[in-house]
Amino acid sequence: MAQIAIIGLGNFGYYLGRDLYEKGHDVIGIDIRKEAVQRIRQEISEAVVADGTDREVLESLGIQDVDIAVVAIGTNMLASILTTFNLREIKVKEIYSKALSEEHGRILKRVGAHHIVFPEKDVALGLARRIHHPNMLDYLPFQEDYAIFEIAAPSAFHGKPLRELDLINKYGLQVIAVRNKGLQKLQFIPRASYVVQDGDGLILLGAHSGIEKLGKDYP
Ligand code: ADP
Repeated sequence: MAQIAIIGLGNFGYYLGRDLYEKGHDVIGIDIRKEAVQRIRQEISEAVVADGTDREVLESLGIQDVDIAVVAIGTNMLASILTTFNLREIKVKEIYSKALSEEHGRILKRVGAHHIVFPEKDVALGLARRIHHPNMLDYLPFQEDYAIFEIAAPSAFHGKPLRELDLINKYGLQVIAVRNKGLQKLQFIPRASYVVQDGDGLILLGAHSGIEKLGKDYP
């Protein structure tokens, strides 16, 4: 499980932090408003009143050591930019920043965000997709344990047909698509005769436990 810092505990930061903590991650939340910190205090690992634009404060909280930081400051654009910049300066490995406009997003990218989230745009596009394809699943709601994963094909798989790898019987994993290095597109529902190439990504449907077992057998 990951160590995650969330800076800005408005609605976005609140729901994000609560859900990640519920899923078992270690979550530290930061906000300049005392009320925002109070609201989430009981629902994540640690909540602190602090200013994300202050680099020394971030360092004293040990934010440089987290796996992922999310800047969920919205309306105060300058604070969101400065906080993102500070996180990059203290070398946080992976930074997600929330943007309110395309321009804001471009600036956040320039100052060091690895990923930009556009909450309104992302939700609107997701909703449009759901309305347009009503029977498409966003995730597999029937069982929490199942998911779709992508792994780089281990070298032991290279040159072997899927039939021989027999991932279904060994790990309970179904190869639903292959990402071939040379091709731009995913190749969906590969045949059992498909021979795995060096550089292939395998998109697998199955349980987390199956993926873990595969990871142990082919580290
Ligand atoms: P939301 O839509 O998620 O509620 P807001 O922009 O209203 O978005 O909230 C963002 C949160 O970020 C607020 O709780 C605000 O107090 C917090 N925030 C603003 N500036 C800073 C800062 N410099 N450091 C930490 N938190 C901040």
